[in-house]
Amino acid sequence: MTPFQYLDRHSADLVALLQRLVRVPTVNPPGDHYEAITALLTRELRGAGLQARRLPIPHAVARKGPGPDWRTHPRYNVIGFRATGAPKTLHFNAHYDVVPAGGRWRHGSPFEPAVEDGWIYGRGTADMKGSIASLVLALRALQATAASPRCNIEVSFTADEETDSFLGASWVVDHVPLRADYVVVMEGGEGRHIGCGHNGVVWLNVVVHGRPAHGSTPEQGVNAFEKMAGLVLALEDYKRNGTTCLFAALEVGTGRVTGQTRARHTGDDFLAFLRHVEDAYPAGELHVVLDNVSTHKTPAVQNWLAARPRITFHFTPTSASWMNQIETWFGILSRQAIRRGAFRSVKELVARIDAFTAQWNAGASPFAWVKSADEILAKAVRKRPGISESQQ
Ligand SMILES: [Zn+2]
Repeated sequence: MTPFQYLDRHSADLVALLQRLVRVPTVNPPGDHYEAITALLTRELRGAGLQARRLPIPHAVARKGPGPDWRTHPRYNVIGFRATGAPKTLHFNAHYDVVPAGGRWRHGSPFEPAVEDGWIYGRGTADMKGSIASLVLALRALQATAASPRCNIEVSFTADEETDSFLGASWVVDHVPLRADYVVVMEGGEGRHIGCGHNGVVWLNVVVHGRPAHGSTPEQGVNAFEKMAGLVLALEDYKRNGTTCLFAALEVGTGRVTGQTRARHTGDDFLAFLRHVEDAYPAGELHVVLDNVSTHKTPAVQNWLAARPRITFHFTPTSASWMNQIETWFGILSRQAIRRGAFRSVKELVARIDAFTAQWNAGASPFAWVKSADEILAKAVRKRPGISESQQ
């Protein structure tokens, strides 16, 4: 029997498995029944001949996630691997959470999947428990027919795609030693097509209009093709090859900048940056003016601060002049070093930022206050009722 024959003969198993998956209402938010579904998925992968592990997210990590639900709703991801001795590994990823069911459901309950006229109706059948069931059946087919794929197979079933993926795919990428050479994200919506890339950054549908002109007076016409070519080239400038988060502290007295790039801007990243600043200014009193972003006030940051009496925080509205100084510097960095650059990787971008910062510091001078302290205070007092605490 070939794997394809196996699949044809087991279509009822596919439907049954999908129904079992849909009956576990993994609604996110808040992240219901993750424990049950990941136990089920781990068993299914093992049953299909993979080494499989369920990886719980430790509370210490989960609490740093943006979601409020980790305490009552533990997070898990499932990893499976089947070695075939091949040099390369193909990875399949699917998320097992579903968005909440709303409105009226015409086919009984959203979590009691009904089959009608060859269609199955249930929350998550398309997005994306159907993909999970298909993969499991395909893996069973490989095992049952003793087929030997020309690649190792790696699988991840991840949490929280419907919210932020922070403790799901993102955590797996950062913390699990994956072996993937290629990844198939099994997200549906494209029918039988396989798309390259996931979602994309910019989607455009462009119609360019020209104006015809007589050959003797071409200057009166507009060439649509030329305009379109110009647009395509302009989009090249728009291309991003990854992003980075820059933390920067400006020494008001000298204008010198202490910067650090991080992959993210969580409370942990901020704390790492504070340590960096602490090393840069190892002695004496240190007064740090910063804005009211929540990551500046996490318990970890507060504990760190409490243990360092020489360091004092001063929170200020984002519109106040103190913050404008560093904002101005970010503007200069952006204009002089980033905006027109083409960076092929995050590494190149970070190198450019570091080089610019070093160059800046070599010739640094403080920003000059253009208003007197009295004028600034008067303005601050006037503005107080409408103080802006928008995030940076
Ligand atoms: Zn999805």
